Amino acid sequence: MKISEFQDVIRRTYHERDRARGFEKDALWFVEEVGELAEAIRKGDRREMELEMADVLAWLSTLASLADIDLERVAVDRYGSGCPRCHSIPCRCPHA
Ligand SMILES: [Zn+2]
Repeated sequence: MKISEFQDVIRRTYHERDRARGFEKDALWFVEEVGELAEAIRKGDRREMELEMADVLAWLSTLASLADIDLERVAVDRYGSGCPRCHSIPCRCPHA
């Protein structure tokens, strides 16, 4: 499944509910899911990390859909040819 197909599944599954809740509340849900992912990483719980990564991607897809942004297009535009700064794969930027 491509990123665009995933975004479409999430949109068809939750769009009306997410739209009614509103973009800012949905954005808070997204941040909460990121926090849950951080907790799973802290605990070293691999299964929970998998679930939370899926939730983070689903909520990111929701935010993209509500903003009428094609997540696959923007991700590929920015990272499809490697690092957006040095344009290399792997990145050759000096370490931050
Ligand atoms: Zn780079």
